[in-house]
Amino acid sequence: MSNSSNGHSCLACGKRITWQFALCRQCEKVYGSSMKDWPEWLAFLWRDEIRVRRQDKRVKDNEVTFVDLPPTVAADDRVDTEDYDDGE
Ligand SMILES: [Zn+2]
Repeated sequence: MSNSSNGHSCLACGKRITWQFALCRQCEKVYGSSMKDWPEWLAFLWRDEIRVRRQDKRVKDNEVTFVDLPPTVAADDRVDTEDYDDGE
């Protein structure tokens, strides 16, 4: 069982989103799609998320993992993926 695949929320507003991403589309418009554009508090939350996932990976060593991607790459990747949230 892994709660990283179904319980992830936007770091800024708490909306449920795909686990690869730190922000939902709405918040990405506000804060930007790249970590380097984010305010410090948001970057901190995301680094913390990544750290937790790395620890989780260490425990469950056999699972396929995504955390080797730098968070900036993951954030940039999501620009073309708009199928999970159509906005309000
Ligand atoms: Zn959001």
